[in-house]
Amino acid sequence: MGFAACDPFDQERERLEAWFGEGRGRLLPYLHPGALGDPRSVFPGARTALVGFFPYARPEAVPGAAPGSLKLSRYLWGPDYHMLLKPRLARLLEAAQARWPGLEGRICVDTAPLLERQMAVRAGLGWQGKHTLLIAGKDGSWGFLGVLLLSVELPPDAPFTTDHCGTCTACLEVCPTGALVPFRLDPARCLTTYTVETEAEPPLEVAATLKASRWAAGCDLCQEVCPWNRAPLWGDPALWGGPSPLHTLPADRLPRGAAQWRKATRRTALRRVRDRHWRATLARILEA
Ligand code: SF4
Ligand code: SF4
Repeated sequence: MGFAACDPFDQERERLEAWFGEGRGRLLPYLHPGALGDPRSVFPGARTALVGFFPYARPEAVPGAAPGSLKLSRYLWGPDYHMLLKPRLARLLEAAQARWPGLEGRICVDTAPLLERQMAVRAGLGWQGKHTLLIAGKDGSWGFLGVLLLSVELPPDAPFTTDHCGTCTACLEVCPTGALVPFRLDPARCLTTYTVETEAEPPLEVAATLKASRWAAGCDLCQEVCPWNRAPLWGDPALWGGPSPLHTLPADRLPRGAAQWRKATRRTALRRVRDRHWRATLARILEA
């Protein structure tokens, strides 16, 4: 974890405006360029951000390894990380408030319009790789980010000012839909967008890739090939969760009904995918 100042992201503003101007954010309506550019739009009193990298992966979690199974992204294998990380950060805030009365804070775990990756870079945790995700150096990129915005000014850590991707382009090359250019993602072409973020119909060529690749929720290809994930920091066991039939059952035996889906995804991060969305993805992958 590291500390960062909550100044506006002036250097990102232009890039964000261009990205939104090109319509890249249209499938992710919860994003807003104005709010994203300034952490104080999330919490007006924010002066310092405490940013944590919470590793979640485990070596045994290999999407699609079970015979006939479909692939689910590693971050969706465990329990709902919001339910674990938010209480942890809340306990930390309470402990700090007991020591420094008057301290205020806001917890953000993927739940507020905040540039969490850029904040992590500013807090010295790593750099944004060409696949746009945070790479925490030799610890890799299999990690959730959790942020605690605080109303006090604390000494920041030194930001990460260089990227260590070098001449590597493995993630750009492996992406089956061409969703990546260096340091920029086009959500309208990313498999994760259509299997997790939106129920919008994917373009025909993206739907064809979905079928061929068998990623039913999320996609890890650009992280799997990253050399920084060769010997990553394997995760916190609390974030691993138990084995779920969703990862091991052959595709034709996966749950399809609403009640079955609710049961299979109870207290997992997959719960945000609605059962009708899941069925639509299964149909895209499995139907002729
Ligand atoms: S998650 Fe998959 S589809 Fe999306 S950018 Fe990475 S490789 Fe491409
Ligand atoms: S695969 Fe290569 S280019 Fe892509 S993020 Fe990893 S190191 Fe950077």
